[in-house]
Amino acid sequence: MTMQAPATKRCCRCKRVKPLGEYHTRRAAIDGVQTYCKPCAREVARLQRRKRSDLILSAARVGEALAQFTAEAQRLTESLRAMHRSAERVHGELVAAGKRAEETCV
Ligand SMILES: [Zn+2]
Repeated sequence: MTMQAPATKRCCRCKRVKPLGEYHTRRAAIDGVQTYCKPCAREVARLQRRKRSDLILSAARVGEALAQFTAEAQRLTESLRAMHRSAERVHGELVAAGKRAEETCV
């Protein structure tokens, strides 16, 4: 028994009835063609490509921001280390000055 495939099909997207030749083939489908007509399939693919490139652009921007943040954090860390070294030096000088003061008082 063979099923006679309909010569036309209604596109799920644009809802227009079109001949099967207006659809890309899809072996897994009962009628052997896609649910979207060729122009709709092209449009969907175009939108998906655009969405994908938007996502890639967003990811690149996030990566850029992260790199700037990391660089800024490194600068701040270095600045804190320098301040710490400076504080240690001042502390050392104060301790030495205190010792000298004690020695002169004796
Ligand atoms: Zn369509």
